Amino acid sequence: MVIKIAARESANELLSATMRQIEFAAEKIGLESGVLKILSKPKRTLTVSIPVRMDDDTTEVFEGYRVQHNLSLGPAKGGIRFHPSVNMEEVIALAMLMTYKCAVVNIPYGGAKGGVICNPKDLSLRELERLTRRFTSEISIIIGPEKDIPAPDVYTNPQIMAWIMDTFSMQHGFSIPAVVTGKPIEIGGSEGRNEATGLGVVYSIEEAASKLQLDLSGATTVIQGFGNVGSVAAAALSELGCKIIAVSDSKGCIYNEKGLNLAALKAHKEQTGSVINYPDTNIITNDDLLALKCDILVMAALENQITGENASKVNARLVAEGANGPTTYEGDQVLNQKGITVIPDILANAGGVVVSYFEWVQGIQHFFWTETEVKKQLRRRMNTSFSHVYETSSSYGVSMRTAAYMLALNRVSTAMNIRGLYP
Ligand code: GLU
Repeated sequence: MVIKIAARESANELLSATMRQIEFAAEKIGLESGVLKILSKPKRTLTVSIPVRMDDDTTEVFEGYRVQHNLSLGPAKGGIRFHPSVNMEEVIALAMLMTYKCAVVNIPYGGAKGGVICNPKDLSLRELERLTRRFTSEISIIIGPEKDIPAPDVYTNPQIMAWIMDTFSMQHGFSIPAVVTGKPIEIGGSEGRNEATGLGVVYSIEEAASKLQLDLSGATTVIQGFGNVGSVAAAALSELGCKIIAVSDSKGCIYNEKGLNLAALKAHKEQTGSVINYPDTNIITNDDLLALKCDILVMAALENQITGENASKVNARLVAEGANGPTTYEGDQVLNQKGITVIPDILANAGGVVVSYFEWVQGIQHFFWTETEVKKQLRRRMNTSFSHVYETSSSYGVSMRTAAYMLALNRVSTAMNIRGLYP
């Protein structure tokens, strides 16, 4: 009960932070109030109940959601997360972020998100499969390659995407790979999709570093979160010469001022299930991790991590938001006052959805690209988007977050105005 209330409060925090940021950017571009009113609400929300036969033959009922926020630029796009703290407000906020994320990187999608309240770590593989298949069946009334295309998010992965694709295909009687992205390569996934979010974060850090004249070789780096995004970003940054001094995951935070060996750390996590107890490191608290003096802080865990309370202690030159919504509205104000450059989530972590778009395009055309081609196209899009956001931020004297929302709102509202209001 306490967990549920806490989760709801933090979800409201995310929704209200997102709305406040949008309202601020909307004012800067003089957005019409009617358009803002429409964008303040999701277009469509679906709550489903998911009965699952457990391995011991009992029945559990889970709750899941799929939210489509705005479809002006194209079909709805966004991940599905399986996590105990999922709730409707959180999914709405994350769907809104997807609308603006797709618009910032100029891909023809609207925003969506889904979630199921569960802890996949407590489920067997077969229970997870049955849960995924039943959830897919329940949301199949609103998803589809031209309607709404799910993808991985927190605690979901290519195998889960394969089950979604298979269930949807079974219901229609033929294979429909383009209903989902982030699939295994063997069944129509794209080269480079698995690493895309983490790599996109690194490409945006490279761009920011060159603007800040920050030399990446030897740059001290702290990574919060060591899942799909944090682990890939950490490895790629370390290859560029950054010194990764601290890393955390859901079990704890480790620190060694001399730097960590990323390949060995990854192997340790695969073996033990966590980064903690990695040799020659000290265990520190999450608050200590966020307060470490460093050049780059990569936020790659969950939302609401840098807040009004702890932001004053952040001691980084550059913050890159690999997660969605890691900084609260108040936290963001403090980082801005301190002159810390923040690469906002809707830009920094857009690499995932960009390569999802490539996967969808490749699937529809039945023509697949090499990994080199995917990475080249990803870098091109990330760099162009970064430049647009950076230029807008400089010419209007606003943060990169506000600039990203200004650009995104412009694209979404232009599409809404050209299409007109039905009926
Ligand atoms: N879940 C990822 C995100 O938050 C990827 C979404 C997608 O590829 O559709 O951006």
